Formats: sequence, structure tokens, C-alpha cells
Amino acid sequence: MMMRSKRKKQTVLILGVALLLYSGIFSYSFYQNQTSDDLLIQDVSRLNPVKVQKIIQGEVEEGLQQAVREAGEKNLKISIAGTRHSQGGHSFYEDSLWLDMRSYNKILNFDEHAKTITVQSGTTWNQIQDYINPFGLSVKVMQSSNVFTVGGSLSSNVHGRDPNYGPIIETVQSFRLLQADGSILEVSRNENEELFHLVIGGYGLFGVILDVTIELTEDELYVSKTTKMNYQDYYTYFQKHIKGNNDIGLHFARLSVTPETLLDEMYMTTFEKLEEGDKDYPSSTELEELRTLKEEKNVQRDKFFLGLSRKYDWGKTLTWYLQKRIYGDGTEGEIVSRNNAMKPPIQFLDYESSRDTDILQEYFIPTENFASFVETLREIVQEEELNLLNVTVRYTPKHDEGMLRYSEEETFALVLYFNQKLSDKGKKHMEQATQRMVDAAIALDGKYYLTYQLYPTNDQIRAAYPKVNLFFEHKLKYDPDERFFNNFYERYAHNES
Ligand SMILES: Cc1cc2nc3c(=O)[nH]c(=O)nc-3n(C[C@H](O)[C@H](O)[C@H](O)COP(=O)(O)OP(=O)(O)OC[C@H]3O[C@@H](n4cnc5c(N)ncnc54)[C@H](O)[C@@H]3O)c2cc1C
Repeated sequence: MMMRSKRKKQTVLILGVALLLYSGIFSYSFYQNQTSDDLLIQDVSRLNPVKVQKIIQGEVEEGLQQAVREAGEKNLKISIAGTRHSQGGHSFYEDSLWLDMRSYNKILNFDEHAKTITVQSGTTWNQIQDYINPFGLSVKVMQSSNVFTVGGSLSSNVHGRDPNYGPIIETVQSFRLLQADGSILEVSRNENEELFHLVIGGYGLFGVILDVTIELTEDELYVSKTTKMNYQDYYTYFQKHIKGNNDIGLHFARLSVTPETLLDEMYMTTFEKLEEGDKDYPSSTELEELRTLKEEKNVQRDKFFLGLSRKYDWGKTLTWYLQKRIYGDGTEGEIVSRNNAMKPPIQFLDYESSRDTDILQEYFIPTENFASFVETLREIVQEEELNLLNVTVRYTPKHDEGMLRYSEEETFALVLYFNQKLSDKGKKHMEQATQRMVDAAIALDGKYYLTYQLYPTNDQIRAAYPKVNLFFEHKLKYDPDERFFNNFYERYAHNES
């Protein structure tokens, strides 16, 4: 009896020690992994992971100033990130001091009557929408979704789905910029104007954007209408019914990716303004419900269909058939507030696989060349056997602000959503196919969006953006030690090929 209880005690003791040892080893390796993995940074494309030297969470202005001075003393490069939805390593660099701006996200000032808001640059559009929605106000220009930071949005000079506006630069009143020497500048169209045109669309190469004042507009009500058409008719339809039409709030189109009707069939979705006094204007109770901000629903269902599309041609056909539901394009005749229409589903796009990844690309094509570009694109997609999952089209009016602007005349922007392999072979293939698409855009006086992969060559970036050398000269003028650095800058300012 005594022997058995002694043995039991021994077993418990051994188990206890083993457990302790294991948890010690686990905690140690977890801590080890955590510290080393924490320094491994990548963007949503997962194409270019790098290890940075040190991470600083942007929290207060003085902390950011100190980080910039520390980088100077230790001769470290500084890279800056928002939510890392750019896809070419624009928001990081190997061994750099990495500023994660997401926690630098306070709303500093809001003027309901002047319709302006001042926010720290790590603030997301989601936060802004939550804040201004009760005041019946809305953002003038932002991406088609609301997950991005304001600093990241300015640095890519983003655009959205409201055909009445060009890129975000049109709606920026001013910002403050922390420079490489630790000093802070006020920047607007009246003060340090040159920097206004360099920093917006400048991919974090001139300093840290601290806070930004942007213009807002009314949170209008819209009725959505969807029209099916052939891509060849789009230009004429757009010129006649959409362009310059003040009754239209948002507009975009979607091109088919099914093998049977590849880039041929097109659905056009238009959000027309609904004014008080109009026949369908909602009652005050309906209005309250309509103005309540909606959360994304059916994430798993939509992930499932996108997964089918990724894998099978018949999945693409099915998804195209169900597209209105899956992409939340709005049901015919549905009434929706501008704020709700500007937060369409995006979570279902999150995708993790060790073999492949989803990427975005965007081509800005002069409107009259739209059909020709679509035809060449179709050829390239077929010949290269690209896994194209979705294509949307938006309008960008001509604008003349921002040195690296992408729309010097009015353009249709084609946003392409591909799945590609993560292997070296897969990357090489996508690189070569992208170069064909970029050539096609350039041949039609178009451009590609710089915020995505670094596949285009040095010649191609210079053909699409003839001012890029001048842009890099200005970079050296304001930041002679090249303190602010990222993969994009290295690729095109420091690399010959
Ligand atoms: C699913 C998806 C949908 C998209 N939709 C659209 C769209 O509708 N319209 C559109 O125009 N674009 C779109 N984009 C592109 C996206 O808007 C840009 O890549 C944008 O820069 C992302 O913002 P971010 O906060 O993720 O910035 P990040 O990717 O983190 O950074 C982008 C650049 O901004 C710099 N930066 C970030 N914060 C600061 C700061 N405080 N000071 C100085 N520099 C800074 C970084 O160094 C980097 O160069 C989309 C991308 C994805 C993946």
C-alpha cells in the first residue's frame, strides 16, 4: 500500500517536473519566436517579407521625433507603415527602424460647419466614418473600403468610386511633416507648397506625415442601379449618362472573369442621389436605420465562393452569377447611405496559403482607349493563363496636383485581382505577365498604379511616370542622407534593371 502511494507520488512529481520543463521550453521558444518573428515584416501580398532592426509604435509626436533622431545617430534607414496594403515593400525596408503608425490614431479636431476633420495619420477611414456619421457627414475621397490609414492613403494618393472627384490630394487642406532632421513643417498649398505635391503620392520618402486636415461632404442617400452592357459600349454610355451628372454619387463597373465571357460582359453599378421630397425618400424611422453604419456580413460564405473561383473555372462562373450578393454591389433599387456604400465588404479577401497569394494591380487608361486596352488585356490573360478573380472599373477625372500623378487626362482605372503562386517560378511568371500589361497600358498612353508590386522595369516606370527622376532628385534635396527608405525607392532609384 505504502509502496504504491510512494510510486504514485514519484509519478506525479516526474510529470510535474516534465510539465514545468516543457512549459519553460515552450515559453522560451515562444518568446524567442515572438521576438524574432515580430521583426519579420510583410505586406498583405506576402511577396516580400523582410526583417527590420527595430520597431517603434507611433504614439506621441515626441516619441516619433526621438525615433527619427535615433535613426540619424545610428545611421539607420527609417521605413513607415500604416496597414500595409501597398504590395511592393513600400512600407518597410530590411534592417530599418520601422515606424508602425497604426496607434498614432487620435481625432484631433472636427469642424461640423466647415466640414473638415484633423486626424493623426494612423487613423483609419473606419474610425473617421464612425466619428462623423452621427453628424450626417461623409468622406469625399477614400478607397473603395475603409480599413486603410489616412497616412498610407495620402502617401499613395488614393482614389475611390465617386466620379466627381479625382485622387485624395484634391481634398487635403494641410498636414504636418516630421523631417529627417527631427524638425516639423506645416505643409499646404500656401506653405511649403513643393512638399505638398511630393509627399502626397510620395510613398513615405520625405518624412512622417503627423496629422492631416481633410474636407468632408454630406452623407447623402443613394439608390443603386445596375445595368448590364458590353465593354465596347461603356465609353459612350459613360460620356452620355455618368460624366458630369450631378445626380450621381458613386459609380463603378465590374467586368466578367468567367472563361466564357472573359472581359466581355460588364455590370455597371450607379448610386443616384435621393433628395428629400423625392417619391422614394424614406420616412424618419427608415432614415435612422439607413444611416446606421452596417458591419460586414457573410464573411465565411463569401470566402467560400472566392475560394471556388480561385480553384475552378466553374467557380468563377458561379461567382460571377452571384456577384451582386458576394461583392455587395447593391441590389437594384436599394437605398443606401453614402457612408454605408463606402464601406463594402473586404474581410472575405483575407487569404492565407503557403503556396499562393492574391494580389491587386491597377491600370489607368485614357477613357477613349478603354475598349482597346480590355482587348489586349484579354489576350494577355488567356495567353499567360493568369488566374484573374475580379476586375472593377472606376473613373478618375483629369487632375494636375501631385508630382507622381496617375491621371493627367481622364481615365478609367481597371483594378485587377489575381491569384499568383509564391514560388520563384510563380513570381517570375507574374512579373513577366505584368510587364506585358504595363507595356499595353503605356502603348495606349496609360499608367499603372505604383502602390502595388515592383514588377515593372525601370524603363517602364520612367515611360509611365516621366517625372520620376525629378521626384527622386527632390527626394535627395529634402532628405540628402536618404534616411527615409523602402523597397520601392531602392528598386527604382538605386537599381539599374
Ligand atoms: C484590398 C485592397 C483594396 C484597395 N483599394 C484601393 C482603392 O479603392 N483605391 C486606391 O487608390 N487604392 C486602393 N488600394 C491601395 C491602398 O489604398 C494603398 O496601398 C494605401 O497606401 C494603403 O494604405 P495603408 O494604410 O495600408 O498604407 P501602407 O501600405 O502601410 O503604406 C503605404 C505607403 O504610405 C507610407 N506611409 C504610411 N503611413 C505614413 C505616414 N504616416 N507618413 C508618411 N508615409 C506613410 C508608407 O511608407 C508606404 O510607402 C487597395 C489595396 C488593397 C490591398
